[in-house]
Amino acid sequence: MGGQVPIEEGLFTWPSDDPRLIGSECQKCKAILFPVQSGCPRCTSDDTQPKELGTRGTLWTWTIQGYPPKSPPYAGDIENFEPYGVGYVEIHDEVKVETRLTVADKDVLEIGLEMKLTFIPAYTDKDGNEVMTFAFAPVAQ
Ligand SMILES: [Zn+2]
Repeated sequence: MGGQVPIEEGLFTWPSDDPRLIGSECQKCKAILFPVQSGCPRCTSDDTQPKELGTRGTLWTWTIQGYPPKSPPYAGDIENFEPYGVGYVEIHDEVKVETRLTVADKDVLEIGLEMKLTFIPAYTDKDGNEVMTFAFAPVAQ
């Protein structure tokens, strides 16, 4: 029996009571970046510090991934593939984050929708662990 493991170290603080995405804040121009970057693309400063991001944002753009992505790098179960939503969520006053969405329903998803951070299993690895990734879910659901 496997447990749950994060898809990537340093991407978010899960598992935790209040899991957050980990970004960077430029100490010079205050730009917020995700994922963590050692240099600021806006002002080219290399003075950035890790910052835990907010958990709410608005849906900026979205699409539905209706067929399995190229594998590799896609590690999910292609035979049992189910369409999923992907998009960008603009975390309030912070940064746009490319993310999976918990819904893949074009009647639910709309630009400007209020979204909240959550964590979902992305796939099961060869050791039987559920590999956890972040996603955003509509707040209203
Ligand atoms: Zn900067």
